[in-house]
Amino acid sequence: MTATATAPTTVDLGLYSDIQRFGATDISACFSCGTCTASCPLSQTDSTFPRRVIRYAQLGMKDALLSSKELWTCYGCGECAETCPTQADPSQLMAATRRYAIASYDRTRVARTMYTRPVVATAFAVLLAAFFALFMYAAHGPQSGESLAIFEFIPEALIHNTGIVVMLLVVLAGLSGIATMARRIGRREGVGWATVFGSRRALTRAGRAAWYAIGRESLGQARFREDCEADAANLEAVPWFRRRWLVHALTVWGFLGLLAATALDYGLALLGIKETGTPVPLWYPVRLLGTAAGVALLYGTTVLIVDRYRAANRSVKRSTTADWMLLGLLWVTGLTGFVLELALYLPEPPAWGYWVFLVHVAVALELVLLAPFMKLAHAVYRPVALFFVALATQGDQP
Ligand code: SF4
Ligand code: SF4
Repeated sequence: MTATATAPTTVDLGLYSDIQRFGATDISACFSCGTCTASCPLSQTDSTFPRRVIRYAQLGMKDALLSSKELWTCYGCGECAETCPTQADPSQLMAATRRYAIASYDRTRVARTMYTRPVVATAFAVLLAAFFALFMYAAHGPQSGESLAIFEFIPEALIHNTGIVVMLLVVLAGLSGIATMARRIGRREGVGWATVFGSRRALTRAGRAAWYAIGRESLGQARFREDCEADAANLEAVPWFRRRWLVHALTVWGFLGLLAATALDYGLALLGIKETGTPVPLWYPVRLLGTAAGVALLYGTTVLIVDRYRAANRSVKRSTTADWMLLGLLWVTGLTGFVLELALYLPEPPAWGYWVFLVHVAVALELVLLAPFMKLAHAVYRPVALFFVALATQGDQP
């Protein structure tokens, strides 16, 4: 069995008011009755979930909060908010504490600004996209009159090199945040390098935990599907193509699919098999992957935006600027990608295709660059936390 270290007891009296800046509702009315625990689909094996996180926030236990893997197991289904007798809305508190954690793991304080200063964050996002667009436009070259030669408009090498710089910055910021989070949770859980790599048995256990976190949960969305769709009344009322787990999964798969298609496109160019941007038939594997991923991303983000706008279910009753910004950037990236593909394959080269390309590249670069500082970061933090959950659950299993 993995040893559990003594919880840190540092008290931060400003913790609760700080978390409120990240969107938490007033939880002072919570009297730890346990109704949220009884209604939470994830609490079968933990009779303190999610109340323990609420108590950390109420008592100012900052270290314990930021070392809590449980923070990331919550799927924001909103079930607990429906049943809380004091309207304390534990679901919103869980979401706000995750935003607070992302900002706390980030040493640059960019994430804190993005979450707590919505006007500044929006202006920053617009200016950043404009900067990328102007930077790319500055490399404006001769446009071919015979085809939509997008790489004559913005040289491929410029996009490629800018992309490498952006990726390096993202990787550095992301790794720093992940290392901070993993160190905190690992210390609390008594998990160190030896626990993961110390022996063949430890490696096997870590491999199983990684599969659970990345394969089963993050890509397969298993627990989201099982727990948040367990409500029989909801299942009957909502058609299969509008179910939350599927819409969320299509958004995740679409985003990852587009990343993979872009990387493969560059890979094929490096191998000299196909120049980037060269027209290919629809069945060409990389184009097929990109098209399917684009459809998934566009459908998923459109439904998520409509549902948020209508506050269509209990999980999206409240939305923050951070929620809208992520969905907006994903949606624009998906839409401009499709319109660009349409322009590329039209018989006559439309001039507007160049401007769509410019917007697409600028927004995609911005989306990637801001990933560690916005809600998208949960796509990495959650699997890391679930890895620790799986390690703890496996215990002494052979
Ligand atoms: S958040 Fe609400 S349901 Fe949960 S323990 Fe507090 S008062 Fe009870
Ligand atoms: S939002 Fe859903 S998963 Fe999260 S604590 Fe509440 S009931 Fe549990």
